[in-house]
Amino acid sequence: MDQSVPSRAVVIGAGIAGLVAARVLSERVDEVVIVERDAIDDDTATQPGVPQAMHVHLLLQRGYRELTSLFPGLDGRLAAAGAPALDLLRDGVWITRAGEAPRVPSRLRTRSASRGLYESVIRDLTLERPNVRLLDGHDAVALVGDAAAVRGVALRRRPSRASGTALTGTTPDHHATAAGEPQGETSQLDAWLVVDASGRASKAPAHLAGIGAPVPTESVIDASLRYATRLYRLPAVPRDWKVLLVRDRPPVGTRGGVVSEIEGGRWVVTLGGAGEDQPPTDDDGFVAFARDLVSPRLFDAIRDAEVLSPIHGWARTANRWRHAERIRAWPAGFTLFGDSLCALNPVYGQGMSVAAMEGGVLGRWLDASAVGRDRRSATPPATGPLIDALSRTARLPWFLATGEDARIEG
Ligand SMILES: Cc1cc2nc3c(=O)[nH]c(=O)nc-3n(C[C@H](O)[C@H](O)[C@H](O)COP(=O)(O)OP(=O)(O)OC[C@H]3O[C@@H](n4cnc5c(N)ncnc54)[C@H](O)[C@@H]3O)c2cc1C
Repeated sequence: MDQSVPSRAVVIGAGIAGLVAARVLSERVDEVVIVERDAIDDDTATQPGVPQAMHVHLLLQRGYRELTSLFPGLDGRLAAAGAPALDLLRDGVWITRAGEAPRVPSRLRTRSASRGLYESVIRDLTLERPNVRLLDGHDAVALVGDAAAVRGVALRRRPSRASGTALTGTTPDHHATAAGEPQGETSQLDAWLVVDASGRASKAPAHLAGIGAPVPTESVIDASLRYATRLYRLPAVPRDWKVLLVRDRPPVGTRGGVVSEIEGGRWVVTLGGAGEDQPPTDDDGFVAFARDLVSPRLFDAIRDAEVLSPIHGWARTANRWRHAERIRAWPAGFTLFGDSLCALNPVYGQGMSVAAMEGGVLGRWLDASAVGRDRRSATPPATGPLIDALSRTARLPWFLATGEDARIEG
């Protein structure tokens, strides 16, 4: 007789990293529950948990390749929603103080969309898996377990979603409170594996401390880059490019900007600058900043274009690595994933691609024989090797981003 118990994985966070993890897990465990603090609606761009969704999100070729292989149907749905196909060298104008890069056909293919569209299509594809459920409107407020092993997550239903989503398999615990959190209705979700994909502001360090486990040290390299972003209507006049990027010469000049064609016949225009030279979020300041870029091409493109949105600023761009890989006594049954493990300065456009690559790492680790054997036992798996493998994947993107930013950091 089969003595095994159904395996459940809990993923904290329904951002791109969490959805990638859930997709990979869904093929290998019996049940996946994604816990997301925001109430998910059809307009991801307005979700409070992902305010960064307003800003330009270029998906590099590697990330596009990984994501389209993880999510069959992704490219077709992005295309159907109007996201243009992009050859980054042929369709991109890349300008620095040294001049303009040659425009040549390349294999650097991707599709250009808003962050909201990438995320909503990936979420739909993930939730089409029969064994994946989304528990939105719930905060993961603590880990359940001890320093040796994580065995679940304590959740608190957000007040704005009083009705909540009914979930079988939770243990109602109306008396429990999580350290540092306001009192609320809480419950516990048991899990064989807990994946923290709750982003760069992850509470994992506090949650680990809460169960007496070691807390990772952090490396932070902050170039103090700020973004300001606005949407425009794609002008009717034809042009021979889909993305235009202007960058000065850091560390002397950190000012830059990008115009990217996205679904809905729109341009997302993001300006960036570091230190004292930050892009303004008022109309006149935004335009003046664009006019003073190292090339007039961006200003010329947007000067007569129709404005479609207010200007949104963004300031959290530091590179931050939580060094889980340095902890030898890491608790079993728990891992950091995506930005929660290693968040990168977004200006290098690597975050979604790294999250997608980490999906492959997670799959290979789950398929490793020892982990595979444990999967239907009550024993949480040793996650140290997974953390090591994820860290190896993040190391090169980290080096590329921080190598540049260390020259700018004040
Ligand atoms: C301004 C900006 C521009 C960027 N541009 C690019 C780009 O051009 N190209 C690129 O590849 N990447 C870019 N990135 C990075 C990219 O967005 C991320 O690296 C990638 O999406 C992975 O993020 P994530 O899923 O780990 O975290 P997030 O996207 O932050 O998602 C975390 C999720 O967890 C939820 N959550 C948080 N705490 C809890 C909790 N306690 N309980 C339940 N849920 C919780 C949040 O609500 C959120 O939905 C950019 C980032 C920023 C900030």
